[in-house]
Amino acid sequence: MNNLAALLAESAWANGDRVAVRQDEIVLTYAQLDEASARIATLLQAKGVHPGDRVALVMPNVICFPVAYYGILRAGGVVVPMNPLLKARETAFALRDSGSRIVLTNPAFADEVTTAAADVGAACLVMDPTAFDALVQTAEPLPKVVDRAQDDTAVILYTSGTTGIPKGAELSHRNLITNAATAAETLLRVGQNDVLFGGLPLFHAFGQTCALNTAVAAGAALTLLPRFEPAKALEIMQRDAVTVFLGVPTMYTALLRTGIPGGYDLSPLRLAVSGGASLPVEVLHGFEREFDVTVLEGYGLSETSPVAAFNPPDRPRKAGSIGLAVRGVELKLVADDGAAVGQGEVGEIAIRGENIMKGYWNRPDATAEAMRGGWFHSGDLARVDEDGYYFIVDRKKDLIIRGGYNVYPREIEEVLYEHPAVAEAAVVGVPHEIHGEEVAAVVTLRDGAQTTADQIRDYIKQRVAAYKYPRIVTFADALPKGATGKILKREIVVERQELAD
Ligand code: AMP
Repeated sequence: MNNLAALLAESAWANGDRVAVRQDEIVLTYAQLDEASARIATLLQAKGVHPGDRVALVMPNVICFPVAYYGILRAGGVVVPMNPLLKARETAFALRDSGSRIVLTNPAFADEVTTAAADVGAACLVMDPTAFDALVQTAEPLPKVVDRAQDDTAVILYTSGTTGIPKGAELSHRNLITNAATAAETLLRVGQNDVLFGGLPLFHAFGQTCALNTAVAAGAALTLLPRFEPAKALEIMQRDAVTVFLGVPTMYTALLRTGIPGGYDLSPLRLAVSGGASLPVEVLHGFEREFDVTVLEGYGLSETSPVAAFNPPDRPRKAGSIGLAVRGVELKLVADDGAAVGQGEVGEIAIRGENIMKGYWNRPDATAEAMRGGWFHSGDLARVDEDGYYFIVDRKKDLIIRGGYNVYPREIEEVLYEHPAVAEAAVVGVPHEIHGEEVAAVVTLRDGAQTTADQIRDYIKQRVAAYKYPRIVTFADALPKGATGKILKREIVVERQELAD
């Protein structure tokens, strides 16, 4: 198997009548998902999509997502998934950078996406699930998957890597197929009777590989939740007899706070998987107790398809650890000069294997920098114990993970610097009991300028996605600086305030 679209076609052949994907009352079997995506492929071809063309997909976890995703791939296109919460100017950047001339979205996000598409001269196709049948019926199914080589790019995921400048991680068909197969066969051990929880965003590597492509590889069902909310999550877990829960730590915290209301039966649940950020050991134990299920933590990045490490199911899991390198992947810890560090010492995680991206789209310098010596450098710091289990201890890169979403301080700082009253700005993460981290901005003002924290907060709120803007804004006379004038973020102490919404 060397084509991601063929993965669905083969699964449909083997599992035609089984449920592939469900969003509340809308249910598609494998045969139906395959046919609907084949119709979208024809539609895209009619709109001029050729093999290798980038097609953007800006959607939450609705039924149209998998249909569009496999439809683009079947037509030979490259999927460029994006977070639908982005503001028009953020979406426009990725559309322009990736050279996407068509963007697929759904009605709830059409305004912002249409503005972005118009800005870059791309065509926008709004897929309305209520008019879904009519839409897919407008084209005949494309009979065959358009041929692609296994090292051709299948998906470009926008991420900021270690440097804070957004760029597209180019993942090949082989990268994504092998990572999903590894997850399905050796980590989650998914079979046809499994029902996977689809609350992780499918536009992100974790949800895309471990929920969507893993389910399709195994012929399992995926039940979608467009917006994570604990009560709704519990409801669909019971309704659809979910067997595998997948989430980021903030989802675990939220579920734990809610608890299982009396009368709920979640007995089919056999495994819970966490990734995307560190899962506090207390939360892991609490969840295992409350939900009577084993929680296995893994680790990865967009650039690594994403799974690089995992607590294997056939060994005792170590709480607080991201586990061992997965099948087909090697990990090592390196010092700044690239030399391997000794056992017990802290080093940067470097990764090599079948899951490593081809490179950053149109960014040869950034690719060479990340791939020094043939190893992908993650920007995460870890140590390894005597059994080979890795423990993340810190981040080398400038990144805040708020509620499972990555916020790159540099991007917010750039918007802050556009504010006429701001002289200097630093954006840092502060610990937060619900979101894991909260975004805080410390600014110094230009001489004579006057503004308030609320004004600054609103200014950013209007310009970036809602999950990114700093809830905390404080003023300082000066920011701590090193010898080269670089702002020393680690020395910035932010007083906790009453958090705005
Ligand atoms: P992304 O490219 O959005 O998947 O973000 C990747 C980053 O998420 C990694 O470089 C880590 O900083 C972080 N991350 C992923 N999984 C874990 C984990 N289990 N523990 C700590 N950090 C993690």
